[in-house]
Amino acid sequence: MRRDLIKRILTEGLNLSYAPKNIYWEGYDVNLEESLFEYGFVARQPENKDYPDEWFVLYAYAGAFDTGWIRESDLDKYMLGQDWMDEREIQNTLDSRNQTLEEWLNQGFLSKFGDLIGEHGVDNFMGGSYGMLDKNAAIDLLNKHLPPNTPRITAEDEDTLVCPECGSDNIDSDYNYDTGQTDRRCRNCEHEFRT
Ligand SMILES: [Zn+2]
Repeated sequence: MRRDLIKRILTEGLNLSYAPKNIYWEGYDVNLEESLFEYGFVARQPENKDYPDEWFVLYAYAGAFDTGWIRESDLDKYMLGQDWMDEREIQNTLDSRNQTLEEWLNQGFLSKFGDLIGEHGVDNFMGGSYGMLDKNAAIDLLNKHLPPNTPRITAEDEDTLVCPECGSDNIDSDYNYDTGQTDRRCRNCEHEFRT
């Protein structure tokens, strides 16, 4: 059954309607904060695309956040067994959603990506990192491409960070990829600490 479908797709091409251009963030959940902080990603179509089915993704990884580009047709290739996923891994993904392969292929990018990273981990799908972002930087990025009439997202659930030495909230922050922590430096007393 699946073999027939794969054969048909390989001979006739993927006749799937990819989502229309949308430069605003979209999530697995309608709430973008929930999508990024609970489900681990939001995505939007870049203004300048190399491919019509290309998406720009902001995702949570290793206690911080990162960005990257991925094509919807690449996600389909994983599920068609044309990459590292084997029969069992493909079947596990379908079982987790109780879907047939055809149903899976006909859903949108966000569902496909959410299913795959939920089942197999985001690092198996997104390539090399161009530099990690801390939570505030991720929220800044989210706020740059909010859909119209969406209120700005604030980091209100986080306590204001203050210097443990002098209590100043004038802090420089730099995510450290090696330690997975954020290096902080107080601009007031120059005390350095890590969170
Ligand atoms: Zn200080």
